[in-house]
Amino acid sequence: MKEELLNDPVFGMAAGQFDRVADFLKLDERVRERCKWPKRIITVSLPVTMDDGRTEVFFGHRVQHHLSRGPVKGGLRFHPKVNVGEVAALAMWMNWKCALMGLPYGGGKGGITCDPRKLSMGEQERLTRRFAQEISPFIGPEIDVMAPDVGTTAQHMAWILDTYSTREGRFVPEVITGKPVELQGSEGRTQATGHGVAFLASRALNKLGLDVKGATAVIQGFGNVGSYAAETMESYGMKVTGISDITGAIWNGDGIDVFKLKQHVAETGGVAGFAGADKMDPDELLIQECDVLAPAALERVITKDNAAQLKCKILAEAANGPTTQEADAIIEERGDIFLLPDILCNAGGVTVSYFEWVQNLQRFSWTKTEVLTKLETKLNEAFENLLLFCDEHKCAHRLGALATGVDTVAKVKKTRGLFP
Ligand code: GLU
Repeated sequence: MKEELLNDPVFGMAAGQFDRVADFLKLDERVRERCKWPKRIITVSLPVTMDDGRTEVFFGHRVQHHLSRGPVKGGLRFHPKVNVGEVAALAMWMNWKCALMGLPYGGGKGGITCDPRKLSMGEQERLTRRFAQEISPFIGPEIDVMAPDVGTTAQHMAWILDTYSTREGRFVPEVITGKPVELQGSEGRTQATGHGVAFLASRALNKLGLDVKGATAVIQGFGNVGSYAAETMESYGMKVTGISDITGAIWNGDGIDVFKLKQHVAETGGVAGFAGADKMDPDELLIQECDVLAPAALERVITKDNAAQLKCKILAEAANGPTTQEADAIIEERGDIFLLPDILCNAGGVTVSYFEWVQNLQRFSWTKTEVLTKLETKLNEAFENLLLFCDEHKCAHRLGALATGVDTVAKVKKTRGLFP
């Protein structure tokens, strides 16, 4: 059974969302099945020599949801809970995200089941290179272009670039995005996802008639996405009152000094113990009063247990899949929360990845201002189109965003036809 291979609550959630959207769009049964299931599911075994001389074998996965509109695009995640079902769900969401943003890509996602916090940099390098080597027959600039995700950085992308280029016998920067600028990464890519989250939150505040300056935000997660979202919000004059990460949660009603917090995190490895804020229970943090709540870590943190208690005006889904379907139903019923759905809210990352790939193919580079201006134009267009769509069809933002993405893909499948 297909469901059994991908048996995981996150996949159940992505598939459930898809079924709802397919019903809404009244998708033709034959196109519906083709849109739902991934094209390729690849699992590779990764033997790595550990620092103590042992050999440990890790599992790495790559799911390519479909290639009908172009190469597959999406991140590579390092996390202890990674499994093939979760990766398949994330690949499916990438699919709708790329279609919603009008990027010429299908969706993909990769993951290695490991705890990067427990691996030395040497071990991470050997693991990443081995994955790049094992997966290289299935990737390439016109087939599958990876990027960073939870637990990976520009450095991991540099190792993949080097391994792939060595195998090809030539420098191939367009095989990967989110790489360091000196290896032809794009200006603005590192902050792109967080920047996009803050930008869209400011647009949502505008729509609600609220001032951006002085608006408050709570951010769950202080990795690449959460930290740049916080920094950009602060630059807009917003007050980031609460932040959490794996080490705990902190609160300062006058606004946390994001620059100082970044320094603290660089020195200590987490937000816990930051002198410029009080300690708070991480579950309590999510239900504090604020204008913008941005879950910026993993899936399924807004659930049926806390959805009714949320006290935010805007829910900015910086992570992929942070809200369960049960919580979605509660939020829809409440009707007092402006949802920025994940596939739009965090699309800044993949959009600038697309810009990076285009620059690489042309052997040309844009300035940071050019990149961020083009990013804001694209996000704003998608945001305005979504509001128009939802207004016209009287539907919730999640349904509207997914419907736009799924419909684009379904039309392509239908027009291309079924081979043979
Ligand atoms: N991992 C990011 C995401 O979930 C970025 C993907 C990319 O840049 O390809 O959207």
